[in-house]
Amino acid sequence: MRILQHLAAIQERINSAAAKAGRNPQDIKLVTVTKTIELQEIIKAVKAGVRILGESRVQEAQEKITNYKLQITNSKVQWHLIGSLQKNKAKYAVQLFDLIHTIDSIELAEEVDKQARKNEKTQRILVQIKLSEEEAKHGVLEKDLMDLLDKISNMNNLKLEGLMTIPPLFEDPEFVRPYFMRLREIRDKLSAKGYNLPELSMGMSNDFEVAIEEGATMVRIGTAIFGERG
Ligand SMILES: *Cc1c(COP(=O)(O)O)cnc(C)c1O
Repeated sequence: MRILQHLAAIQERINSAAAKAGRNPQDIKLVTVTKTIELQEIIKAVKAGVRILGESRVQEAQEKITNYKLQITNSKVQWHLIGSLQKNKAKYAVQLFDLIHTIDSIELAEEVDKQARKNEKTQRILVQIKLSEEEAKHGVLEKDLMDLLDKISNMNNLKLEGLMTIPPLFEDPEFVRPYFMRLREIRDKLSAKGYNLPELSMGMSNDFEVAIEEGATMVRIGTAIFGERG
């Protein structure tokens, strides 16, 4: 019941942020972040209507996704990897995830492409960009972005759908706004060069409304749905 109420409240907030920005709320996908959350809670969230689940760690996700599929057959749920990916886990990531948000190097892209080919799969990906030094240590720097995108465009088993960022943490979401704006600007510049990057994965529990105002198409929300992680 609690999850159902939280989800309804989040959807309401997504709708008003979209309305404020003159956007269609249908264009904003909720990625429900389930890291550290137990399978039974996740199943409750799915029954409450959640359709995209986001996990941070491959190993944790592997156990959950396997058990989930044993319990819920014919599920329409998508699993997204939102945490950083090590090359040696790419093999598992390709088997588990519909979308990987965190491609940030040529080496990683090559490995994911290779594993996708082995699995006869086209792996949907986002490129994670690091916009500042204070940020989490992962993400490609802007100066290296064009090179990465050019290489990815020649990898046959990857389908690049957009960009993702994790800005530094601020209490006040207004301080995060410039990072969200920057990601959208980078995307728009790339669009002008012919890159089709519709998805912008940005915004978490504390700042998703600002992210939506700045163009987010995927917001990654955990705490506001499940409560503080233990
Ligand atoms: C944990 C996590 C989230 C969700 O954060 P909340 O503050 O719990 O909403 C979003 N994105 C990434 C990359 C995360 O690791």
